[in-house]
Amino acid sequence: MVKQLRATFASLPDYRPGQNTTYAIQDAAVGAFSVFFMQSPSFLAHQRDLQRKQGRNNAASLFGVEQIPSDPQIRNLLDPISPDHLRAPYWAIFAALHDEGHLKQHVGHANTVLIALDGTYYFSSQKIHCDNCTVHTHGEQTRYSHAAVTPVLVAPGQNTVIPLEPEFILPQDGIEKQDCEQQAVKRWLARNAVRFAPWSVTILTDDLHSHQPFCSLLLQHQCNFILTCKPDSHPTLYSEIELLDKIDGVAQLSVGQFNGRFSEVWQCRYVNQLPLRSGEDALFVNWCEVRIVRKQTGELLYHNAFITNHPLTDQTVQPLLRSGRTRWKIENENNNVLKNYGYHLEHNFGHGQQYLSALLVMLNLLAFLVHTVLSLSSLKYQRLRHELGPRRTFFDDLRTLTRYLFFPSWDHLLDFMLTQLELQPAPDSS
Ligand SMILES: [Zn+2]
Repeated sequence: MVKQLRATFASLPDYRPGQNTTYAIQDAAVGAFSVFFMQSPSFLAHQRDLQRKQGRNNAASLFGVEQIPSDPQIRNLLDPISPDHLRAPYWAIFAALHDEGHLKQHVGHANTVLIALDGTYYFSSQKIHCDNCTVHTHGEQTRYSHAAVTPVLVAPGQNTVIPLEPEFILPQDGIEKQDCEQQAVKRWLARNAVRFAPWSVTILTDDLHSHQPFCSLLLQHQCNFILTCKPDSHPTLYSEIELLDKIDGVAQLSVGQFNGRFSEVWQCRYVNQLPLRSGEDALFVNWCEVRIVRKQTGELLYHNAFITNHPLTDQTVQPLLRSGRTRWKIENENNNVLKNYGYHLEHNFGHGQQYLSALLVMLNLLAFLVHTVLSLSSLKYQRLRHELGPRRTFFDDLRTLTRYLFFPSWDHLLDFMLTQLELQPAPDSS
């Protein structure tokens, strides 16, 4: 994967005139990637030290960095490069995961792939800004920020989420108005829906996108949807439900289940074919709601409602709700991990004047994706992560080992750890 990434990085545009500096661009991109991958802001500094003392370093052996660039060099080289140039590796890795059968368990309702689309802020400041910042003014105060839509593939019962190519909320050529999450989601869909077979995907979003124009767009792109649907933003739909409720027109169903720790009851309600808004051109959608309560005490554990194009019956409503509910994973497993558990989404390489902050997020998410791939496909990685418990322990060890010792390859490094922990790798494991 590192080789594949290097190949992509080799084709990044170099905007400095008159210099043959292919390696420099490649090294800057791989260098930044290695920092995210090792979850160590000082990884490159340590490797420079190692090179000086031992005449060799792990940035070269593990990541193929020819000459370790300095942080200012990385900033200058990467700043002018649009994040669009880094889309391809996401899909190459996704295709490899799919082809090797690692995504078989990652399916949701009606055998579709569940893609959760959600926006997240990765930068906010009152001082630091660039030409591509989103600007919010409140009275005297101006706030500069950057955000992106970070789609992930989720599945009920799977702890692993798979990050897909993000879409940045950035000023678009020829458009005066500031960009926003809704527009970014539309662009992502227009570009990527064709990558999947018709009706093989179910899109999950929060209430922000749960309106007729977006639902129509999803259907146009032959995508299914399960979208959060709150009463305040859907008055027409909920007044229909209220009327139907009076004549027992809302189907109800209670399903008990054991969640591994205690018994829950899923109290489901659903109606097919409700108008999404007022007016004659209203789109008709199916609606369902769930209240999950603890069986013993009746304590409410979870409550949500969704609209969907999938037909609802007594048989399908609970599996559908289970799929809809996996959207929380994007917050828990993806955005939360990225912000709080080692990925340093706002890394100190800095902000730049053009695209730097977005490009770094792109590299950071790629590091997260490669870790995810390893957790699905590498026995050695799985054993080490399992043995070392919290993710921080694994990366602390990696950081310390590579600071003091030289490893000619990833295999040497992982085998060293396995041997020291007295975990025998399987003979043909990779
Ligand atoms: Zn900015």
